[in-house]
Amino acid sequence: MMHLPTIISISILLNVIIGAFLLSLYFLRQQASYLYWGSSCLLFVFAQITASLRVFIDFPLITHYLADLLIISAPLAAILGIHAYSQSDKKYHKACAFVVILSMLILLPVHDSPLNQIITTAIIAICFSYAAFALRKLQVERIMHLALLKLCFVIHALIMLLQFSLLVSDYQDIIDTDLTHILAVILISHIIITTLTAMIWPLMMFLESEQVLNDLANRDPLTGLLNRRSFITISNSYLEQANHNLTELCALMIDIDFFKKVNDQYGHETGDEALKWVAKKIKSQLREHDLVARIGGEEFAVILPSTTQTQGESLSERIRLAIHNDRFFYQNQALKLTISVGIITHKSGTNNVNELLAEADKGLYKAKSNGRNQVVTMAF
Ligand code: GH3
Ligand code: MG
Ligand code: MG
Repeated sequence: MMHLPTIISISILLNVIIGAFLLSLYFLRQQASYLYWGSSCLLFVFAQITASLRVFIDFPLITHYLADLLIISAPLAAILGIHAYSQSDKKYHKACAFVVILSMLILLPVHDSPLNQIITTAIIAICFSYAAFALRKLQVERIMHLALLKLCFVIHALIMLLQFSLLVSDYQDIIDTDLTHILAVILISHIIITTLTAMIWPLMMFLESEQVLNDLANRDPLTGLLNRRSFITISNSYLEQANHNLTELCALMIDIDFFKKVNDQYGHETGDEALKWVAKKIKSQLREHDLVARIGGEEFAVILPSTTQTQGESLSERIRLAIHNDRFFYQNQALKLTISVGIITHKSGTNNVNELLAEADKGLYKAKSNGRNQVVTMAF
């Protein structure tokens, strides 16, 4: 059997550390979600301290009433943190304040009876169920962490529900030893899972901001494709591998035909949407390991590793036809777009992808001067 005072001490220590860390992140970045989550950790700490005081003092207004209000406020602060992260915190402040005031009013007359524990447990169970529900709004890359966080909230709600049904079914015999034993296990689970949840959140946020920074450095914000710099870096390593394994590799330069007209006739916003549409069309024809980047205004580059000239040509033709045979719809307007493609197959030699792209660009130039909407192959 785990030693309750030890569990409480470890939990207090961890929650103080995590809470202080989250609050310092808030002062550093001014993101409200860190403030709420840090406060949630500290509220949980104060709740544990005030509840533990019942061993030393007989003052139920603090050891029961205040402790219960603090323990209810902790998940409420976490919920505000979730909403602040998804930028929809405004109307939830009032709802949370309402829950706190309602709890104050309901718990005051019963704070010295077993009923207070039943009511507090029910409110916390509802809060954790809602927190799991609120997580659906979060848009994060790391869905595994989000699923873990959801699982923590759901388990927490279930533990509280179990405690609630035990207390309701047998609350006259609350002093009964078996029940106190089970309740101690539930309390320990509650403390452990709260601490676990407090640890997953900052980890998830940290990895999430790493991902955002990584995307900012390596991706084109409009289309989400690689930007020129990261494309060149990755392509060069593909080229090295091709040289080492003596495999062929194709490089494509793609440019949208008469794109200036799209902007001139339909506006820049439509032009932006058209760029996203073309990017999606190109990507839809590629394999998982093919690289595609937006390397200029309406120019894209593609690297096809382990691909022969014939395969590269038919893939280029497929991309061209995918765009030619479809229509781009935007605000009830159907636009017909076409692309020109220059392609070069690398067999051996150069380690510099810029040389390959320059050759593919010559093919693109020829495709433009031959009348556009076509693929031109260059010999290297
Ligand atoms: P060509 O067939 O010879 O390629 O003709 P073009 O009109 O596509 O070529 P040009 O290079 O003259 O024009 C490219 C246009 O792409 C000019 C610019 O307004 C547009 N463009 C570049 N970047 C963006 C962007 O990020 N958004 C939008 N909407 N337009 C862009
Ligand atoms: Mg163009
Ligand atoms: Mg161009």
